[in-house]
Amino acid sequence: MLQEEKQFPQSWSAEALEQAFEREGCPVCLAILETLQRAIVSWSYEGFTDVEQRHLLIRSRGFCPLHTWQLAQFPTAFQLGLVYHEIITDMLASMEKPTLPSRTNWHTTMRQILRNIFSTHRQQAIYAACLFCQKRTQVELRLVDTLLQLLQFEEGRMRFAQTTGLCRVHFAQACKQVHHYDKQVQTALVVAQRVCYQRIVEELEALIRNYEYHASQQVHGAEMTAWRRAAEICAGNPGVY
Ligand SMILES: [Zn+2]
Ligand SMILES: [Zn+2]
Repeated sequence: MLQEEKQFPQSWSAEALEQAFEREGCPVCLAILETLQRAIVSWSYEGFTDVEQRHLLIRSRGFCPLHTWQLAQFPTAFQLGLVYHEIITDMLASMEKPTLPSRTNWHTTMRQILRNIFSTHRQQAIYAACLFCQKRTQVELRLVDTLLQLLQFEEGRMRFAQTTGLCRVHFAQACKQVHHYDKQVQTALVVAQRVCYQRIVEELEALIRNYEYHASQQVHGAEMTAWRRAAEICAGNPGVY
């Protein structure tokens, strides 16, 4: 028997998931996007004025490409202008050499310039210092954990099973974190995810049938957007990664 006597989670993460359950796409992706959008807006007002955060940002050379362009959709011309002015001035300073480097120290000079531009020598970690990517990691852990808490309850299991299902990244994350829970939650996670996969497979089959047999007719069933939900399962919701 599942532990129904436990308290149904009441937190910002439970609320964010509850709202995400009503919408199309991976619930964790949806809740992350919502939370990060609020963080982005708040950065443009408060985070930007925080001296320590601004220095971190200058040292990390700005944000990753995804979050840079999400931020750019908000009115942040002044904030970004100031931050990038400091970043690029600093990068420029590392290139200021009175004479061209001699052949012997060329590699050392280049290494110094690149170290200053990238703030790390590890290619794959270039954007690892992005403040919003770090925030996403924290939020993601919390949301996945809350989802698992919700799966301890019949209502939570039922509501999750009616969603698009978790994207691959978040299903993998949930499988990793579910070890902290009992066998019943572990089973509930896989059973609910199976229900979501099964539903999408049926919808995809209906979509394919519609295209094969009624190519000339317009079909407007829910199955016609099944490819989008399948893409969300395989690649996550747009704007999260
Ligand atoms: Zn996801
Ligand atoms: Zn980022």
